[in-house]
Parts: sequence; C-alpha cells; structure tokens
Amino acid sequence: MPALLRQLAGLGGCTHPIRLDGHRTEYTVDTRTGEIGNVLHHLVSSSLPAGHLLVRCNNRRITRCAACAEVYRRDTFHLITSGLRGGKGVPERVAAHPRVFATFTPPGFGPVHNRPTGPAGSVRRCRCGALHDQDDPALGTPLDPDTYDYEAAVLWNAHAGPLWRRFSIYLRREVAKRAGLTQRAFREYARVSFAKVAEYQKRGAVHFHAVIRLDGPEGGDTPPPAWATAELLTDAIRAAATAARVDGPVVDGRAHTFAFGRQLDVRTIRSADFDGGQELTERAVAAYIAKYATKGAETATGALDRPLRFLAELAQLDISDHARRLIRTAWTLGARKDLEHLRLRAWAHMLGFRGHFSTKSRRYSTTLGALRDARAEWRRAQALEAAETDPDTTLVLAHWVYAGTGLTDAEAWLAETLEPAPGTEGEPTHG
Ligand SMILES: [Zn+2]
Ligand SMILES: [Zn+2]
Repeated sequence: MPALLRQLAGLGGCTHPIRLDGHRTEYTVDTRTGEIGNVLHHLVSSSLPAGHLLVRCNNRRITRCAACAEVYRRDTFHLITSGLRGGKGVPERVAAHPRVFATFTPPGFGPVHNRPTGPAGSVRRCRCGALHDQDDPALGTPLDPDTYDYEAAVLWNAHAGPLWRRFSIYLRREVAKRAGLTQRAFREYARVSFAKVAEYQKRGAVHFHAVIRLDGPEGGDTPPPAWATAELLTDAIRAAATAARVDGPVVDGRAHTFAFGRQLDVRTIRSADFDGGQELTERAVAAYIAKYATKGAETATGALDRPLRFLAELAQLDISDHARRLIRTAWTLGARKDLEHLRLRAWAHMLGFRGHFSTKSRRYSTTLGALRDARAEWRRAQALEAAETDPDTTLVLAHWVYAGTGLTDAEAWLAETLEPAPGTEGEPTHG
C-alpha cells in the first residue's frame, strides 16, 4: 500500500495517466574502453505497485484532467510572461518593445440574449426585455433559434484559423507600409511576434486574444527600430483586421466569406504591475491568456469535451439546445463531400473549430516543449543526484508499450486520499 501510494503521488494529481508496459535498465559504462559494465538500476513495469509504469496524461482540458490542465495553464502563463518581460531564455529588453493585447471578435449570426453594459458598469435590459443575471444560461443563446445563422456560425469556427493566418500576413504588410519599407526590406529591420489563444464566446463562436509585439530583425533578442511604436502597431492591426478575408465554401448556392467582426479591441500593454488597475499589465494579460488556454468548447456547450461517434449520442448529452443545434449543424455539414477538408464531424464537439488553442510565432518566447523538457531534466538530475550516478558514465536501455489509460477504482480511491501536489508560487490563480 505505501509503495502504491508513492507511485500514485508521482503523478501529481493526474487522474487519467497513461499506463505503460516494459522495462528500463541503467548500466555503468567504462569511459576509456566504452564497455558496458554492471547493471545500476533495473525497472520492470510488472514489478511496480500498480503493475504498470504510470505517466501523466498531459491533457490541456480542465474537464478531462484538472491536475494536468493546471500544469498546462502555468506553462502557458510562463510562456506568455517570458515574451512580455523576459526570462526562460528571452532577454529582459522585450519589456521595452511595443506590445499590445488585441481581441478579435466574430461577426454576428443573429441576435442573442445579452447583458448590455451602460455607463459606470450599469447593466441594461436585453432586447428580449429581461434583465439577465450574470450566469443566466440564456446568455449567448439566440433570441430566435429559427432565424439564427447556424450554418455560418459553424463555418466561421472552421475558418477562424485560416482567417488569423491571413490577418498575420496582412499585419506584416501594414506595419512595413507605415515604416515606408517594402515587405522584403522589412525583414531586415523588424519582426512581428505574437502569442494567441482561441476562446469560445457564450454563443459558441471562436474569438481570439493575442499579444502582438514588434521586435528587431532577430526577434526578441534585437531592439526594434525607432519608428516601431505601440501606436503604429495598433494602427496596422486595425487596418489588417479590417482587410483580412477568407473565402469559405458555397453551400446550396450560398457563398460564404469570413471576416472579423467590427468590434476590435487593441490595448497597449504596460510594464508596471502596480498601477492601481488603471493600465493593462503584463501580469493581467498572461493570466488571462493562460486561463483560456485550458478551456475548450465545453465552456460554451456545457459538457461535451470529446468527439462524437454517432449523432444519436447527442440526445443523451446534458447540453443546451443551442449547443445541440450547433453540433447537429456541424454534423450535417460534415456529411458533404465538398466540405470534407473541414472534417466537421470529427470536430463537431468543438463546434467546427479544429485549430490549436494557443499558438505563437517562433520568436515570441520559449515553447511549452522547452518548459516540459526543463522539468524532465530537473527531475532526472534530482534522481541522478540521489543515486550518485553520472550521466556520462551510464547507459540507459528502455522499451515501453502502451497498455491503457486511467486508474483502477482502487487506485483512484487511493489517489484521492493524497494531498494535492505542491504548486509553484508567484502567479495569479485566476485572471
Ligand atoms: Zn492528467
Ligand atoms: Zn434576453
């Protein structure tokens, strides 16, 4: 029992670990002759308390694995933060580069129940005449489901990713134009870096939040040119977002074209963390992005966080009629041969969106993989220190095969008795 508890504790709270069958052997190596010597350490999965080697699932979604989603959220926070104020291999001077936080909204698909805010944060009546409560499930659902444009809403989600790519190309062009440079010359002077996250609005449409930064030619390592200001960047973002368009399919004689909605919010990010909440701070931005990086369509649909296999499953799900209708529309459109490339059935549970939740340009900052590697490296170093072995004089041979996922009922029960894994400090838990 204590051995099993120790193995479960190593999962740091992961509730859907990957189970592996296999073995791992560490040998000493003679550094002069290169010959393999004694076995230092031998591990066989069948001799482990759980009968398998258990590895964290690393799922990003809170609804799937709270512990792994929390690790992902923290990593995302650090990734965004390092791109804003340096650290993790990014120089601190990036804090002086022009940076903005921008929100790109979808167009309208029909009136929905909302909570319009008036002056000084007062709440006004919805078009339906009601004064909706903040967590009224009606919020975001159509006033008239029969006239709501479900087809365009689902196709919007399917084209939001390509539209963002189009926007980012236009943005470089618009910045270059304002600097009086050709696009080719632009690359020798400056670079546009970004990190973005996709989020579902209550009505089930994807929108994007992005940190956009102007750097010198080598990215964050080089200072931006003197003309690069947050004002120029903001102006260029507005122009690029207005111009960006992606042609969608023609469905039953109706040609779809996708563009961002008119509501575009662009705000300059300031360095100060302590300005009484007047300015948009680095910390607030990073916390906000990290928070949404762990959420999927379930924030809009309620519960559905995995692909549907049959449409009949939809009837059993405890989701809103609006979510059901979006999913059904994606499923129906997914049957069309000409829309095959959108894979709408595989992504029906995501309401048609098949993009990545958080993406960044190469030079924005470090990567999630690098953060994960650093963590694994640290654990390995700790283990070696404990065993007093030298990585240069040991050889590791390992072979693992997938044996399943999850914990047995008994393991899950035991895991619940464990204290939550100690967290890392120095970051807000919500934004
Ligand atoms: Zn997990
Ligand atoms: Zn209403």
